Amino acid sequence: MFKDRSYCGEVGKNDVGKYLTFFGWVARKRDLGGIIFIELRDVTGYVQLVVDSSKSEAHIIDTANQLRNEYCIMAKGEVRLRSPETINPSISTGEIEIFVTNLEILSVSEVPPFQISTAANLSEEVRLKYRYLDLRRSEMQEAIIIRHRVCQAVRNYLSGKRFIEIETPMLNKSTPEGARDFLVPSRINKGMFYALPQSPQLFKQILMVSGFDRYFQIVKCFRDEDLRNDRQPEFTQVDLEMSFVDPPMVMEVIEGLLAEIVKVVLNKEIEVPFQRITYDEAMDRFGKDAPDLRFGLELVEVSDIFKSSKFEAFATIIRSGGKVKTVVVPQGARVSRKMIDDYSEFVKIYKAKGLYWARYKSGSFDGGISKYLSESEQKELEKRTKPTEDSLLFFVADFPHIVNDALGNLRLRLGKELNLCDDNTLKFVWVTDFPLLEYHEEDKRFYAKHHPFTAPKREHYNMLDTISPENVDELKAQAYDVVLNGVEIGGGSIRIFDPQLQKKMFALLSISEEEAKVKFSFLLDAFKYGPPPHGGIALGLDRILMILLKRTSIRDVIAFPKTQKGQCLMSEAPSYVSPEQLEELAIRIIDNERIV
Ligand code: ASP
Repeated sequence: MFKDRSYCGEVGKNDVGKYLTFFGWVARKRDLGGIIFIELRDVTGYVQLVVDSSKSEAHIIDTANQLRNEYCIMAKGEVRLRSPETINPSISTGEIEIFVTNLEILSVSEVPPFQISTAANLSEEVRLKYRYLDLRRSEMQEAIIIRHRVCQAVRNYLSGKRFIEIETPMLNKSTPEGARDFLVPSRINKGMFYALPQSPQLFKQILMVSGFDRYFQIVKCFRDEDLRNDRQPEFTQVDLEMSFVDPPMVMEVIEGLLAEIVKVVLNKEIEVPFQRITYDEAMDRFGKDAPDLRFGLELVEVSDIFKSSKFEAFATIIRSGGKVKTVVVPQGARVSRKMIDDYSEFVKIYKAKGLYWARYKSGSFDGGISKYLSESEQKELEKRTKPTEDSLLFFVADFPHIVNDALGNLRLRLGKELNLCDDNTLKFVWVTDFPLLEYHEEDKRFYAKHHPFTAPKREHYNMLDTISPENVDELKAQAYDVVLNGVEIGGGSIRIFDPQLQKKMFALLSISEEEAKVKFSFLLDAFKYGPPPHGGIALGLDRILMILLKRTSIRDVIAFPKTQKGQCLMSEAPSYVSPEQLEELAIRIIDNERIV
């Protein structure tokens, strides 16, 4: 009986008169005294079944009476046009219904803990515990099906560009993305651990050495980080690597790939190539390395105007190496005093000492700090920021990174609260020329901004010998991120392929020769045998889907996600294991100082 299956969401007017068989779940049953309407759901959508007590056979009426929500059933019947007053335009099959001639209950359902159609309003905890029911919702099915179609498009597109999909191991040595590893104990090698891959970085580079000059993989990566709405302990990357390329070649492949993905998800063409801006420019103009370019409100530096100002709050900070920047909000009347007070508190989150403001009215500045600014300073400020009538200027004066952080985040908040971020706009941008390293004051050492295998810009090679915490930002990498609406959706780089340069990089990163040998010797060894120049990138598939589908959490585009505490509420992972299992692994658990 299963062979003749038709799908609920795929019948239409053209099928009128046919006898078709459906399998699915009872989404809703209405008994209008004599006529029973059953909404049947499967993976393609809904179709309405009709059982009429005056016309249907007795056993069908009897079975229909037994049906409850979420029963799994088989229904066969004739496709009929609905009468005009019963047409339902909200479903694709709303013009027809199935007059049931055969009905069978395949399995019954307990009363579900919630009604499937209303699950969107439930707490996420309940949805995740009963994920199998939550996944029956059309919104979730849509996300999962689109995810599949995106993966299919990725495979097609990249295969068409000579990429080869190659699986890399899940049980690995620690990889160097910089997060904490998930460890897996080895039973056969007691006391030893595998690390789950934070990414296939080293393996894909090795594949380049082996001559697979275009590799890709849709791959799970694991990072033991503190979780947020756009992070999961295991997430999926579209990972790729290419030999004999420069950054523009990698970017071109990715632009084409993202255009395909957008086409699949939204049936929309996007403009390529994407805008490209350097890291320095992104920080200057937007205060962030993943700028949201859907709206203006750019940061404008005004330090030079105030360096000898009588307004000490500005002058002092400029003298001690700080900066003053401003964000100009046109039609400033939209921002109330109460909002200004909120924003003043808000910038403190980013360690800014204060938020200053001034309004521009009838050709001069008014309110806030206006009275402290000299006439010439006001003139210069006007020239620099080009305010329009009723503009509101926000200023932060602080250390450069605090200014960028505070105003960059204030800009985003203003963008949201003043409705400047159009949800239907997709603004892709490449951010290039990231610094190679960053200096951490607490540890008194450099870290790789991207990862230790990223190559410096060629013209900056010699800076490696003279790098210091003071000039660390000037040494740039051949690294690039792709950003969508202010979210980093991918990042990559051209790699180091000279073993000597790689050794130098490890030394700069305080990775001792010993440690490098233990962790990465296979890469360094491989590089002894004619490594090709190469580079690549990885895209965050979950994040891309989340943005394109306008979901608020990446959990909504993943079939079985973990909570913020890294738990699967459905299967209850992680869990304790038996003493026997631990014994086999030679592991003892220390629980609150107590060994169990
Ligand atoms: N492995 C890098 C990451 O996961 C991406 C890359 O450099 O290709 O961020």
